[in-house]
Amino acid sequence: MTLKSFIEIDPDSDFSIQNLPYGVFSTKANPSPRIGSRIGDFVVDLAVLDDEKIFDKQYGFFNEPTLNKFMSARRGVWKETRKALTNLLSSDSSPLKNARVELSRNDALQSRVFIPVEEIQMHLPVAIGDYTDFYASREHATNVGIMFRGKENALMPNWLHLPIGYHGRASSVILSGEDIIRPRGQVLLPNESSPQFLASRSLDFELEMAFFIGTGNHLGQPISIENAHEHIFGMVLLNDWSARDIQAWEYQPLGPFLSKNFATSISPWVVTMDALEPFRVAGPRQDPAPLPYLQIVSDYGYDIRLEVTLQSNSMNEPHVISRSNMKYLYWNIAQQLTHHTVTGCNMRTGDMCGTGTISGPTEDSYGSMLELTWRGEKPITLPNGEMRKFLQDGDTVTLKGYCQGDGYRVGFGEVSGKILESRK
Ligand code: MN
Repeated sequence: MTLKSFIEIDPDSDFSIQNLPYGVFSTKANPSPRIGSRIGDFVVDLAVLDDEKIFDKQYGFFNEPTLNKFMSARRGVWKETRKALTNLLSSDSSPLKNARVELSRNDALQSRVFIPVEEIQMHLPVAIGDYTDFYASREHATNVGIMFRGKENALMPNWLHLPIGYHGRASSVILSGEDIIRPRGQVLLPNESSPQFLASRSLDFELEMAFFIGTGNHLGQPISIENAHEHIFGMVLLNDWSARDIQAWEYQPLGPFLSKNFATSISPWVVTMDALEPFRVAGPRQDPAPLPYLQIVSDYGYDIRLEVTLQSNSMNEPHVISRSNMKYLYWNIAQQLTHHTVTGCNMRTGDMCGTGTISGPTEDSYGSMLELTWRGEKPITLPNGEMRKFLQDGDTVTLKGYCQGDGYRVGFGEVSGKILESRK
């Protein structure tokens, strides 16, 4: 039987009782950021539940401005708190949980615990120490490779043997809803021999997801592929904003630098790996077989439906420009984490890894403007007749994602950002 909550939840809501993500929020009444969960249209104040000893024990890590202390508590504790919260919010009446009886009898407490989403302000959920971005979609890497190097050399010789990545910039990771200022940088215009300093003319989004490290590993002690799941706390949607013209000039030989360090947006609710567990599927077949340290027996793809919309200043509603799915990712997140640490590199609580752009096999499932418009050769026509090769000032890009269960969803909400004109 499908688990139900005593709180009414629309079947199309991302925030079913099967989800119970974690985030950091504040209210006008209580402006100190603290940890909450989300169910339907309510935020559940976990700091109040913990302070009022509603759970069987006090955890002491919910009245915190970030998830880091909770995330460092290890997987057994993540599972225990999820179970306690599920019991508290479920409509299951036999046996009645003591905690829920206490909560249901106390109206004043209820109004402090369940806060309508309209009344809350979300904050960056995690203090992110390090941010790494991968390049793990075969379709995306192939598309970009064809555009930059031609069909013969689309995939570099290493691509099918290891998850390519680069060390990104954690300081400019921002929350959904924050504006993106168009970056300026060195650009080599076509048919010119020296670069100019310009506002980027080919600003792009990248449809990605990201996973957070819960418990880290010690320097010199790699995380084996079998143990990767012990370390991964949960996931969010990620938009890796990219200035393609700056990237094209700067990227050789060390990869992207300024073209991606100006902003990276994430969604506010961290969906746990336990909530995503029922949606695990086989990933793409890997041929050639990866080296033994990257081989994993269990299915490690995730069936997460992804969507990108674009809305210009003069449009009344967002327009879908792409639909993709996390299951297309060639290198899975366990392989990404294992590869990252195989040298002995230490991951720390709160570190974030982007999956890389998740493009699907068809032209309407590509995860960037670069691919959707084929580097500007095939502009997108919006419903109001406007054309787009890349993003213009005033454009809002929104990424959404969810897993479809039987009568419920486990979703991520959205990550959204609006492009503002460059500043001199
Ligand atoms: Mn990226």
